[in-house]
Amino acid sequence: MAASIIAAVNLKARVLAGVEQQQDIDNLLLSYVKLSLFEKPGPKTTQMRRDLVELMRTKYFPRADLSGRKSAVPILDAIGGAEAVEAGSTLTGSNLTFLASYRQKNTEWFANIVDSGTKELSGELRAEIVRAQRDGIAQARMRRDVINSYDAELKALKGKRRILADANRNMAKAEASANAARIKAADKVRTNAQAGVRRVSTAMGRLENKVQGAARDAVRREAQRAELASFRQAGFQTFTWVAVNGSLACPDCESLHGDTRGFAQWHGNQPGDGHTVCDSSCVCELVPNELMVKDNITGPVNPFLNNPELTG
Ligand SMILES: [Zn+2]
Ligand SMILES: [Zn+2]
Repeated sequence: MAASIIAAVNLKARVLAGVEQQQDIDNLLLSYVKLSLFEKPGPKTTQMRRDLVELMRTKYFPRADLSGRKSAVPILDAIGGAEAVEAGSTLTGSNLTFLASYRQKNTEWFANIVDSGTKELSGELRAEIVRAQRDGIAQARMRRDVINSYDAELKALKGKRRILADANRNMAKAEASANAARIKAADKVRTNAQAGVRRVSTAMGRLENKVQGAARDAVRREAQRAELASFRQAGFQTFTWVAVNGSLACPDCESLHGDTRGFAQWHGNQPGDGHTVCDSSCVCELVPNELMVKDNITGPVNPFLNNPELTG
């Protein structure tokens, strides 16, 4: 049993759970969208957009960065001892440069998602207003109705997200029990809960889902990069994919399990990069190959097995 991998997954899971409740991003996004839709874009909307992106860059990315580096510690400890832990936990030189340039790209990517999403939304709204005018509905009335329907849906979405969070917790508990029938039942409930979150009717609901998902993806990638940078700083060059099992391991991750490549060869194909069926919900680990040999890890690791930290 690879206790060090389980400890690493626990650490990352905790920071991601925190990010999923990013109320400040939601609030900023809503005000920004309302303002940019109903008033001409100007200094105020530009500032709001900047604040939104800045929040990701200065609050959530550093948290993810820290959690990624911390999650490397138990793994480094298992292979290289105190020396490797020390080297990996203080990033300097090229590793720091690598992380900074990556942060820049990740921030730009998030900003682009916000921009394209807002553009799409305002296009849809303009079309609705034209249709309403044709039907003799006053523009002011139309705008008010649209805003009200957005607010109502966003409220409903929050409720659906709570249901999904419960379903995710129950799924983890089922996995910890390792009971196949229980896992299957919990999976069905979770699939329904996921569909509930995705089933939105307004353009605002779609934008909200899109930006929420983008924030989560960006943070996950940030943690992943920080972890890898720590391993590299400690001197490791080749990395092996470890599928984190339970029902969470999709067929792609299952077949990637045990795949060993050099650092550069993993570029763009790391866990959560979007090339697997599980996409951004991938919780697999890329670990120095030495750990695989030392801990004799042959099959996927299940961190949910009797783990009160993930199921409590
Ligand atoms: Zn997967
Ligand atoms: Zn995976």
